[in-house]
Amino acid sequence: MTPTVAGALAEARRRGVDRLDVQLLLGAMLGKSRAWLIAHDDAPLDATQVARLNAAFEAKADGVPLAYLTGEQIFCGLPLAVGPGVLVPRPETEGLVDWALACLQGRTDVAVADLGTGSGAIALAIKSARPAAQVTAVERSPEALAMARANGARLQLAVDWHLGHWWQPLAGRQFDLVVANPPYVAADDPHLPALRHEPTSALVAGRDGLDDLRQIIAEAPPQLRPGGWLLLEHGHDQGPATRQLLAAAGFTDLSTRQDLAGLDRCSGGRKPEMPAETA
Ligand code: GLN
Repeated sequence: MTPTVAGALAEARRRGVDRLDVQLLLGAMLGKSRAWLIAHDDAPLDATQVARLNAAFEAKADGVPLAYLTGEQIFCGLPLAVGPGVLVPRPETEGLVDWALACLQGRTDVAVADLGTGSGAIALAIKSARPAAQVTAVERSPEALAMARANGARLQLAVDWHLGHWWQPLAGRQFDLVVANPPYVAADDPHLPALRHEPTSALVAGRDGLDDLRQIIAEAPPQLRPGGWLLLEHGHDQGPATRQLLAAAGFTDLSTRQDLAGLDRCSGGRKPEMPAETA
């Protein structure tokens, strides 16, 4: 490769790496914007930078997510540090945040929880948009939780972080709204090999992909205040099953929302204001 910005772009084209991806990689490596790269395509690269770029091109071709190579993913406008220990926040999950924010519209002093927060994406996006909300986030992986905490500290967003599995660290507490993007991929899903660089524990949930959704929904009612919302991301074919699980746990106002591709992506419901009449 000619050791310049233009040389790196030419080498990337030869290897079939997307031009935008190279610009993002180069920008992250040099601490420069895409505009700068376009205006300075004769800027020299040193031997270390060339070696790092070649390694990144190879990793990209092997399916490593670009966000792991740049170390960053933008989610709901927030720059989040990410690495191999966390799921890369997906654009479709922004729909779950939009739904949560709509539920919180006009309300202050609300308690919100994000279960399985990973990089902290959902919790931080909610806190950023609704600073008055008390936001709690739970994560089972100490490595991911450390990344989430660091993201919160860097973005100066105060979230109450807890290490633990789903509801376990929240025992005895109740929330107005709980969101989760749990693992929901079936163990034999043919798309899993393409996701092999991300943590399996963040992706796979048993034979049908519903194990974690089942547990979260079944244990939810005592953790929600009357009228409280539970909103969950799930696979494109899991809308009916998720609504059924919510109905079985006594939730009302059930609905499913689609992502930008028009696929079922989130379902949710409310805990009734009044406990159901017992016969
Ligand atoms: N939406 C992710 C994917 O299939 C899966 C994330 C998850 O299991 N929560 O790429």
